[in-house]
Amino acid sequence: MKITAVETLVCHARMRNWIFVKVLTDQPGLYGWGEATLEWHTRGVVGAIEDLAELIVGEDPRRIEHLWQMMFRQHFWHGHGIIRSTAISGIDIALWDIAGKLAGVPCSQLWGGRVRDWVRTYCHLGGGRMEDFYETSLDDAKAFGDLAAAAVADGFTAFKSMAVPPTMPIEGLRPLRLAEAAVAAMRDAVGDEIDIMVDCHARPSPAMGLKFGKVLDPYGLYFFEEPCWPEAVDGLAMINAAISTPVATGERVTSLAAFRDIFANRGCEVCQLDITHCGGLTAARRIAALADAHQIALAPHNPQGPVSTAASLEFGFTQAGYLICETVHADVPWRSEVVREGFTVEPAGRIVRPNTKPGLGIEIDEAEVARHPFEQETLQRVFYRDGAVGDW
Ligand SMILES: [Mg+2]
Repeated sequence: MKITAVETLVCHARMRNWIFVKVLTDQPGLYGWGEATLEWHTRGVVGAIEDLAELIVGEDPRRIEHLWQMMFRQHFWHGHGIIRSTAISGIDIALWDIAGKLAGVPCSQLWGGRVRDWVRTYCHLGGGRMEDFYETSLDDAKAFGDLAAAAVADGFTAFKSMAVPPTMPIEGLRPLRLAEAAVAAMRDAVGDEIDIMVDCHARPSPAMGLKFGKVLDPYGLYFFEEPCWPEAVDGLAMINAAISTPVATGERVTSLAAFRDIFANRGCEVCQLDITHCGGLTAARRIAALADAHQIALAPHNPQGPVSTAASLEFGFTQAGYLICETVHADVPWRSEVVREGFTVEPAGRIVRPNTKPGLGIEIDEAEVARHPFEQETLQRVFYRDGAVGDW
């Protein structure tokens, strides 16, 4: 059996261009779907996949670990830069889809079978609608409360917000008060039974991340995400040790060694590996084993397209430490028209029952994808009051 081609299909979905990866084989009708979406780097990832295809076309798609090693290690440069690791991830996910289809079982069965009956999901405020999640002003705490109530009315028992503004390396009370007001409004709106998450987007310095963490600690957040840059392992560890809210990080981390350093320094309690960036399902399973050794929970990053969601769910059904699946459902109104999924979502509680189809259980509608060709993503640039560059 041989891989005959690796194709990319780009689907513009407002906030991001979904990059679907289709790995074809010489067996009639046998192919796999992956995803390698990387906002603002669409052309780079598509090019990187073309480069990797030179290595793996003609090879046996069943040798997934061997192909992963080739893609990561060959041609001298290692594959942990974000563009190449995303490209590797897209191909690797598709290879696992092929493996499941060949065996006639969901991918979860290849990894030891299901460890749970259903997977919990959470949404972004506004369901992932770009304006609601990223652009709700922190001067309008009531809007945060209203969007929180809407998420619960939609059936979710957990949601995530961007309630921490961009700040310079050190700032005074004002941003802290804004963040606290937004979180208080959300807590008031939904009560204590609902889990609230705050994503700092690694905007703060470690010093500011610590301040935000302490101010928000009394509100019982489910987790406190990226309170500083993921490279600042000592900063993450300091914040995680100083607050009772679990720190989450990992969506921009692309090597096993970097995860090792974060875990060994207790930089987080929740690992947000991104299966479409970290090296695919092959790498995700290694990172999960490492997290397990530290009793660090898993909540993979997943604001992307439908193949990423299917991969996260299939993975989550096999990992005891997997807490919850990140989802967006209102990023584009035609989301469900691009894909047929093998799993089912129960509207009450937004829990997912397992996929019963082979592989990832999904089929991408290529004609629908073709209706949404590449467009440049909206640039998201942050400058502080004095004109210096900040983090989005
Ligand atoms: Mg995040």
